[in-house]
Amino acid sequence: MRLEDVLKSGAPELGVPLSENAAAEFRAYYELLMLRNAEFNLTAIKGEEEAARLHFLDCLGLLKVRDFKNKSVVDVGSGGGFPGWPVKIAEPSVNITLVDSTEKKVNFLREVSEKLNLPAECVHARAEELSAGNMRESFDIAVSRAVARLNILSELCLPLVKVGGAFIAMKAADSDAEIAEAARAARLLGGGEPKVFEYAVPGTYIVRRAVIIEKLEPTPGKYPRRFGAIKKAPL
Ligand code: SAH
Repeated sequence: MRLEDVLKSGAPELGVPLSENAAAEFRAYYELLMLRNAEFNLTAIKGEEEAARLHFLDCLGLLKVRDFKNKSVVDVGSGGGFPGWPVKIAEPSVNITLVDSTEKKVNFLREVSEKLNLPAECVHARAEELSAGNMRESFDIAVSRAVARLNILSELCLPLVKVGGAFIAMKAADSDAEIAEAARAARLLGGGEPKVFEYAVPGTYIVRRAVIIEKLEPTPGKYPRRFGAIKKAPL
């Protein structure tokens, strides 16, 4: 199936409207992803139908779990641009910042920004180091997919979120233990109890979970710690 047809039937199933222009942007993004994939190892997914479902629709489901309109959003560990680019393409009013610790991936994210004419801030940094600077508590929403266990990821993401904002992690259906384990970390970092939203990825048997942690209070200044400490003794 063509990417355009997958999106045309899948997006309404998710309840996420897509413009013709967005579909064309997804096509251009897919072509660039495949062009650079050999060099950068951006995705294991081959073929447009699979990419449309397992990357694009999978990430578009986020737009149903919270209002992204006009929000400042940071994607932590964006890699090839997921979920950041699908969110920006489907909701252009988002002010997007894509962060990755691997420089060649950030260069790819910049290339997408230029070639698709999509404004974005593409930052080569470790997320925990960004929280020491002026990006600390500056975003309405932090999103992340496939970067780390939720307790570790919370320490990377929650310090970047404003009080009143939220951190949304994309997790698998079998993440109960991981979510339970992260409740304490969320609390220590100024977050609320993790809440789970599930959606089916159209045309697959995959159930995706968006785990939402509301930012209720400022993160104490001692967090985030250095990555070595975060990993050695997760909250
Ligand atoms: N989110 C993408 C990529 C997942 S792979 C997707 O779902 O397809 C994980 C990515 O996180 C890698 O690109 C890696 O470089 C990045 N990463 C890992 N730890 C990080 C950190 N502390 N700060 C920023 N990026 C990080």
